[in-house]
Amino acid sequence: MADNLKVQLAVVGAGPAGYPAAFRAADLGMSVALIDQRSALGGTCLHEGCIPSKALLHAALIKNEAKSASAFGLYFTEPRLDIDALRIWKNGLVGQLSGGLGMLCKQRAVQFIQGRARFTGPNSILVEQAGEERSVEFDRAIIATGSRPLEIPGLKTESDRIMTARGALELNRVPESMLVIGGGYIGLELGSVYASLGARVSVAEMTDGLLPGADRDLVRILSRSLEPRFEALMLQTRVAGLTEDNAGLRAKLISAQGDTVEKSFNSILVAAGRRPATEDLGLENTKVKLDDKGFIITDERRQTGEPSIFAAGDAAGQPMLAHKAMHEALATAEYIATGKGGPFTPRAIPAVVFTDPEIAWCGLTEDQARAENQNIKVGRFPWSASGRAKTLHRADGMTKVIANAESGAILGLAIAGPGAGDLIAEGVLAVESGVTVETLSRVIHPHPTLSETVMEAAEALLGRSVHAARPR
Ligand SMILES: Cc1cc2nc3c(=O)[nH]c(=O)nc-3n(C[C@H](O)[C@H](O)[C@H](O)COP(=O)(O)OP(=O)(O)OC[C@H]3O[C@@H](n4cnc5c(N)ncnc54)[C@H](O)[C@@H]3O)c2cc1C
Repeated sequence: MADNLKVQLAVVGAGPAGYPAAFRAADLGMSVALIDQRSALGGTCLHEGCIPSKALLHAALIKNEAKSASAFGLYFTEPRLDIDALRIWKNGLVGQLSGGLGMLCKQRAVQFIQGRARFTGPNSILVEQAGEERSVEFDRAIIATGSRPLEIPGLKTESDRIMTARGALELNRVPESMLVIGGGYIGLELGSVYASLGARVSVAEMTDGLLPGADRDLVRILSRSLEPRFEALMLQTRVAGLTEDNAGLRAKLISAQGDTVEKSFNSILVAAGRRPATEDLGLENTKVKLDDKGFIITDERRQTGEPSIFAAGDAAGQPMLAHKAMHEALATAEYIATGKGGPFTPRAIPAVVFTDPEIAWCGLTEDQARAENQNIKVGRFPWSASGRAKTLHRADGMTKVIANAESGAILGLAIAGPGAGDLIAEGVLAVESGVTVETLSRVIHPHPTLSETVMEAAEALLGRSVHAARPR
């Protein structure tokens, strides 16, 4: 056993929850150990999630835009894909970002330990790496072990033709045909990448709509755009079995009516959701408890049933998103280091799907508000009435604001269109700070920009958008 280490704070997992928590605690004067089984910082998000997927989606977008430029008289020949160069570029930027995090870690004197961690008690962890063991004693710990792909029970997954997001992002080849199991954001983003790179992509989604939980107006716009690019978007379709032969994989697809068809694909991407990575952490040696989905149970300050142990990020609950993980972890680290800071109870956590068009929403969706019988007003502004959207040849978008009918307080914002993921930040600020729709409509937005559509949606809600038909 290597030397024992004693620190004030041990953080398990160096993803978007773990490394910000470790850095903030160190900045506040704590001695910190940051443990991850990977050799580099950044977690799922940097190594096999947000960043590599967005790099590949950027390449896909450029290809789509080159094609659509013929509408305004610019003709490009079909782009030639150098898959090795694309992979090297994507891997390179992941390497640069994780290298940068490594430097920031050293600069703060946070001790990074590579290895798999298990709790051996309320104040101790054993870290194992290549047969070597090291014990870490701590006053406080944060579990930030993230999540992993959900497996589909009964489906054979040993074949190298069956991938999860990690395999798809390695970009080893572009198959002729691909079945994506799951119409959530990971399936649609990666399906879009492969469709743009030349694969015939089919999506099978078990529920009756893509992106369960997203605003339905946005999903309709996205579906219209994806339909011609995908070979099939099969809703209410369950993949009940897979068999493999020399030619590829045969999937047994069952519709809601019980009809069964078999179809062949060269490759399958399983994107059926993610579950918290909370098994085999030695939690039985502590008072930390899990809920029935495997998330760590915490209070609003992210303290678990074991007073010395906290949790943040995907392991601590929905939504499993990097920006939620980071803010939750920062609040937790500040509370641990200073004993101060409010509970982590944000009103608006934005969600973005980086497809083409992007869709983004925050706060309450219209469906949620109606399900809760809230008295709301909704304003919609179609991008066909936006000068900027027209100049971008992107009139397919929409901006929608949801507000309390009496107070006018903005409860939610939903956007479909290029850059929706950036535009949504204004909605997050509005919902968090209780801005009214009247104020939003009076804030001067630069012209001509897509940001005007946010103001125009507020004007539409108030029945006075001069760029929409005059209300009767
Ligand atoms: C394809 C894909 C695309 C995504 N795109 C986006 C996006 O665009 N925007 C967004 O907000 N989110 C996105 N996400 C989700 C995002 O990646 C996660 O929400 C985020 O990474 C969660 O951060 P985390 O720190 O909680 O966990 P993780 O990033 O999963 O990090 C956990 C770390 O803990 C380590 N670990 C686990 N167990 C142990 C152990 N016992 N000992 C030592 N180390 C351990 C793991 O090695 C890992 O490095 C995407 C995810 C995927 C898969």
